[in-house]
Amino acid sequence: MAQGKGMACLHGGDAPIIYAKNNRRKIIQSLCRKWEKEYLCTRSVGYEAARNTDFVAVGCTVLIRELNIIRAMTYTIERVATLIGAHRYGNRDANIGFLLTDSRSLCFAEETLFFALKTDRNDGQHFIGDLYRRGVFNFVVEHLPDNYDTLYPDVNFLKVVNPLGALQRLAERHRDEFDIPVVGITGSNGKTMVKEWLYQLLSPQMVVTRSPRSYNSQIGVPLSVWLMNELTQIGVFEAGISMPGEMASLRSIIQPTIGVLTGIGTAHQENFASMEEKCSEKLKLFHDSEAVIYNADDDLIARCMEQSGYKGRRMGWSQKDRNAPLFVKTIEKKENTTTVTYVYNGKEGQYSIPFIDSASVVNSITCMAVSLYLGLSADDLDRRMQRLEPVAMRLEVKTGQHGCTLINDSYNSDVKSLDIALDFMNRRPDHKGRRHTLILSDIYQSGESPRELYREVSTLVQGRGVEKFIGIGPEISAQSDEIKVREKFFFESVDSFISSEVFRSLRDEVILLKGSRSFGFDLLTELLAQKVHETILEVNLNAVVDNLNHYRSFMKPTTKLVCMIKADGYGAGAVEIAKTLQDHRVDYLAVAVADEGVTLRKNGITSNIMIMNPEMTAFKTMFDYDLEPEVYSFRLLEALIKAAEKEGVAGFPVHVKLDTGMHRLGFDPNKDIDRLIARMQHQNAVIPRSVFSHFVGSDSDSFDEFSARQFALFDEGSRKLQAAFPHKILRHIDNSAGIEHFPERQLDMCRLGLGLYGIDSRNNHIINNVCTLKTTILQLRHVPAGDTVGYSRKGVIDRDSVIAAIPIGYADGLNRRLGNRRCYCLVGGKRAEYVGNICMDVTMIDVTGIDCKEGDSVEIFGDHLPVTVLSDALDTIPYEVLTCISNRVKRVYFQD
Ligand SMILES: *Cc1c(COP(=O)(O)O)cnc(C)c1O
Repeated sequence: MAQGKGMACLHGGDAPIIYAKNNRRKIIQSLCRKWEKEYLCTRSVGYEAARNTDFVAVGCTVLIRELNIIRAMTYTIERVATLIGAHRYGNRDANIGFLLTDSRSLCFAEETLFFALKTDRNDGQHFIGDLYRRGVFNFVVEHLPDNYDTLYPDVNFLKVVNPLGALQRLAERHRDEFDIPVVGITGSNGKTMVKEWLYQLLSPQMVVTRSPRSYNSQIGVPLSVWLMNELTQIGVFEAGISMPGEMASLRSIIQPTIGVLTGIGTAHQENFASMEEKCSEKLKLFHDSEAVIYNADDDLIARCMEQSGYKGRRMGWSQKDRNAPLFVKTIEKKENTTTVTYVYNGKEGQYSIPFIDSASVVNSITCMAVSLYLGLSADDLDRRMQRLEPVAMRLEVKTGQHGCTLINDSYNSDVKSLDIALDFMNRRPDHKGRRHTLILSDIYQSGESPRELYREVSTLVQGRGVEKFIGIGPEISAQSDEIKVREKFFFESVDSFISSEVFRSLRDEVILLKGSRSFGFDLLTELLAQKVHETILEVNLNAVVDNLNHYRSFMKPTTKLVCMIKADGYGAGAVEIAKTLQDHRVDYLAVAVADEGVTLRKNGITSNIMIMNPEMTAFKTMFDYDLEPEVYSFRLLEALIKAAEKEGVAGFPVHVKLDTGMHRLGFDPNKDIDRLIARMQHQNAVIPRSVFSHFVGSDSDSFDEFSARQFALFDEGSRKLQAAFPHKILRHIDNSAGIEHFPERQLDMCRLGLGLYGIDSRNNHIINNVCTLKTTILQLRHVPAGDTVGYSRKGVIDRDSVIAAIPIGYADGLNRRLGNRRCYCLVGGKRAEYVGNICMDVTMIDVTGIDCKEGDSVEIFGDHLPVTVLSDALDTIPYEVLTCISNRVKRVYFQD
């Protein structure tokens, strides 16, 4: 197995070796004394990295952590400036260990270098002031901030033409320091699973550095590669592209020695002329790799490989071709396992995995190919394959008992993913200022000694503001002294924790649960979660963000956006949706009534909030909580002005609604504008912040002419209003369907509603599904032909049937008119019709011929059954189905 040149053996008790340059020798000597480690200093070191760093330590990362916290390799700021070709302003001494592109993720300010990246939506330059106040002194910028030398004394600014390019260049130079195998994975799906499984397969015998979660973009890849350090023996990185031409930069950063192509699907196809073009773009990652692993039975991939002019070793695997470099002879599926027999280098071998789905099987074959190529023995491979764990990508947020919130992360337990989960916990605002608690199990396969590992964990949890620490497992308990959190508890097992006082006294805390699967954390979450009805609405927060970006792609970067989260976020739950939207910096949130706005404020939402139906009785609340009302009539306006004057409020922002054809609420642009202007000008209690109107039918082409008339009316009326005031008044009319259908009418701002929840009302189609309503089978019974099911004997059974009862009824929002076989739900992916009348709390479904048992999951609508199937069956719109889900249905949020 390849190792870095001059790298010492990390395992087996060898004396740790430290390579140090002279200037750091003293510090290291004293630290060695402190930590009672042996050391060896040399002047000329073989190990490449030592040329550029002040010192390198192997097997003794603790020392380095004392100096640099967690990152073993640091670069001086001069060195960084040289590497990225920057002009340096400022002369503060600094060692850089952390790269930051998102100010919200700041952790170790002193050692952080912030790259002020510019995206369509945002400019990192805006965050310099904030970061400076939080202790960051090193910035890569395109422009020096005005008065930088007086505003930011003692700060290093590295000025470059393109900060993103500089980030990529720095990662490239960092990569150059390593002469070790690096696996580069690309493909349309399965990248993360292959990466995680390779980690599981290889980490028992080598130190693997891999992309955290799915950091695979133009920004994510450099940040991932930067994580390699002296300990790293192999790198495993994902590369994802969405446009032609993106792979070249990722290739120079990853410089894979082994390439893996997982498969080509249709994702991002809109940006490529053909599947061939996309496949060829992906293959560019491998141009200089020693070997490439791919599915040779896939015609498209085989053809593109043929044309690529690739010179290295082609490790195509095949189920058909006995002479393929890797021949997959048989794939045998049993109840819970799959056994694969293969021939590699003329030798037959076999392994089993605890999965039977075909994606897992194909991914395991890819992982086998990489592992065998790296020299893993067939026996080790089989042993580790049998223990592969599923790759859970989700962070779940649940309501817990006794005022707690649970964040459940079942993703692989390791330090990097712990860091990401802690970051997530920190970023979610919490109005009650509740304590942050971490429950952590032993971490496996870190490649470090337990002492070093938990010292690292300690630094991390302190940096991320954990106030209470609960460690579970023998190893973490043995290292309890290393965890420097004031309130800390340790238990040998989940069972001993559950029977303890510490467990019983969890109250008003935000609790992050992070545990290796084998510790039985599932049981723990189950006990801590609030007990409710078995029916839940799962809300996918990633899909919300994907939908947001989908609609943003129709808008100019400068157009502002209001996200409509009225009716409790179209049923999805306004608070969590608002937290996610605030994190993605939308300009405004809009709710229907003042109380909804207050709930958001009380939950830590600081974004601008608009109230669409302000009640006359709630003006004071709006002033107190900074909730900006819509005004649609003179009566409302007068009352508002009066209330504001009484409270001594001046210049309170309001949003003026014009009625251009809906004939619901609003001022008439033909008749009311002059009077409105005159009234507004003769007071200073409120000022118009925006002016808007609403289309009656942007979701259907048949109203295009009417929409055009609405727009013309609005255009004229709103211009008149603007002309009467010196300040900018934002004009907006497009809703979700309008953004897509009339992008030319986006004006200053758009209002995104239903589209945020993944429903494209123009095409009655789901973009990225957000909400899934799920329940479970309570009871199964055989019902003979001739009997009936449910109230009033409506469900007549005409063949011997199996009927399941599920705990959801019209009181949960399952419309009673769906009963009597008008619609269906899904059990094990198969359609099960509603039989008889739907009851208040329970419903019966026909599962005849469907393989299922009591306790199995049932999907009412969601990822596999579009909500539009229900709204069509009810002859209504998806809005109604979504907003009718009652409050007793618990919302469970998750995110990758
Ligand atoms: C609800 C609402 C929207 C959002 O409409 P969608 O069709 O859900 O995008 C926009 N504007 C106003 C005034 C609304 O009330």
